Amino acid sequence: MCGIVGYIGKKCDLKKDLINDLKTLEYRGYDSSGIAIYDGNMKIVKTKGKIENLEASLKNVDIANSQLGIAHTRWATHGEANDINSHPHRVGCVTLVHNGIIENYVELKEKLIKKGYHFVSDTDTEVITALLDDIKKSEEDNVKAINKMTLELEGSYALGIIFDDDYDHLYAIRKDSPLIVGICNGCNLIASDVTAIIEHTKKYMLINDYEIVKLSKDKVEIFDRNLKNVKKDILEVSWDINQAKKNGFSHFMLKEIHDEPTVLKDTISEYIKDVNTLINKMPDLSKYNKIHIVACGSAMHAGLVGKSVIEEYANIPVTVELASEYRYKKNFYDKKTLVIFISQSGETADTIAALRNVKKDKIDTLAIVNVVGSTIAREADRVLYIRAGVEIAVATTKAYMLQVAMLILIALNIAYVNKSMNEEEVSKVLKEFKKIPKFVNEIILREKECFEIAKEISSQEDVFFLGRGVDYALSMEGSLKLKEISYIHSEAYPAGELKHGTISLIEDGTVVIGIMSKDKLAPKLLSNVKETLARGAKILIIMTEDLDMDFDFDCHKFVINKVNDILQPILIVVPLQLIAFEVARQRGCDIDKPRNLAKSVTVE
Ligand code: GLU
Repeated sequence: MCGIVGYIGKKCDLKKDLINDLKTLEYRGYDSSGIAIYDGNMKIVKTKGKIENLEASLKNVDIANSQLGIAHTRWATHGEANDINSHPHRVGCVTLVHNGIIENYVELKEKLIKKGYHFVSDTDTEVITALLDDIKKSEEDNVKAINKMTLELEGSYALGIIFDDDYDHLYAIRKDSPLIVGICNGCNLIASDVTAIIEHTKKYMLINDYEIVKLSKDKVEIFDRNLKNVKKDILEVSWDINQAKKNGFSHFMLKEIHDEPTVLKDTISEYIKDVNTLINKMPDLSKYNKIHIVACGSAMHAGLVGKSVIEEYANIPVTVELASEYRYKKNFYDKKTLVIFISQSGETADTIAALRNVKKDKIDTLAIVNVVGSTIAREADRVLYIRAGVEIAVATTKAYMLQVAMLILIALNIAYVNKSMNEEEVSKVLKEFKKIPKFVNEIILREKECFEIAKEISSQEDVFFLGRGVDYALSMEGSLKLKEISYIHSEAYPAGELKHGTISLIEDGTVVIGIMSKDKLAPKLLSNVKETLARGAKILIIMTEDLDMDFDFDCHKFVINKVNDILQPILIVVPLQLIAFEVARQRGCDIDKPRNLAKSVTVE
């Protein structure tokens, strides 16, 4: 959430570049935006709402040639989304943009008010700006001033800073919020992530917590907390600009669903050649007798699928927990527990905090992450990368699928070393795994069938997803996908639980989507579906082709090829994503940027 970008150096049209870069960061989620450019005078323009509003306001502002500027998309945490609360903030000699939350801002604000500062916004960010201005009164050196400021701040921050006494440099710092440095010819920049810099350069540096960045047009200096110079590796972005574009699709979400066969193949192929390859490429997990999976949102739902397959095939108990809960509760782990953290961005604030707690207790950690070099990837003991490429739509599709695929590989790996599956059994699954990308593609090619089913849903107010076992875990993701982008209220229910309460919500015409992929559980699921039918529900079924079921009622069915049970979840999720997409499209929703949501949740 929130996007920061800032430049120092030769640019022909800085205003245009900053706006374009902000647009590439839009997917992170925001509710207002702003820009500060120094062209001999400091020009600050900020507006509530879309970046287009900022562009419109900028038309009335004369900006001469400039080499220094910062820009921001805000996802409001302190104070409503309005023009005044938008960033950049300016107090005295300091202008800055901020991503994160300052936890002790009330205390700091009181102190600064006593010193004579007045505040115009409700934000925690204006407080940091005033604090830094105050420190500057007794500290000339800007790097030292930033360092002193960090001693007083509690919370999370990535800051892009311009000082009035040094227009030859752009400054930045981070703590628990993402920030990178991009290196170009004749100019340098800061950004929240590589999507903003990829149009200009593929070269970037990762910044660690508390590191202070001082950029001039041709020099990058980085200082640690002791103000010692830090040497950084220059990294290269591995994907190109086209991957961050829609490639002719109407929406990023649809494009990203269509990416699934390719990215699935990219992710699994290094592991599935044969059993030896799987065992050699995967970390050795043989010593663990308990697994905790910790994640948020869809990544947590992927974890639930992981729980189902690891328990069933690898015979190890798995607990799945929300990172926002896990970080504050008592967790029962020991040296034989592995804690797996899942996060697409690798920057999810709650997941980072939970990971740090676990590491403090010296418990082994493993991360499943998409973004290379992200905080979680760097801090976990071991990391398994999914290879989703850039995912722009806020509602995850391909990254979720790859998280599920990675957990299945982990289950197979442990099952083999635990001897709960023998070589022949694992080898058979791996052979079939090779065909899964093709099967995913075949389902995507049937998108029109999903779009027909969507028509039954788009005028609804409530939808229920029913499943049992792993199908319940998949129902939860189907339900989340639908509600987050179409704004239809929806619930996922373990089918057997419905009559213990929620069946009272079923009325004439309520849509119930039943998911069945397991032959043992399918008859039970069908009975539960029929219980809702008897109360007037309209039924939609997603099922595998092998199920020999007697449907004595009319319903839409989406039938999927049967593959090995452990691999089946990867296929089931595709129609759920396509249906959610189409329902949201029919309802005219902003599919790629649903209201109030952010892609990378970098605040608590
Ligand atoms: N806490 C700051 C605010 O509410 C920054 C929010 C953000 O990360 O966009 O203005």
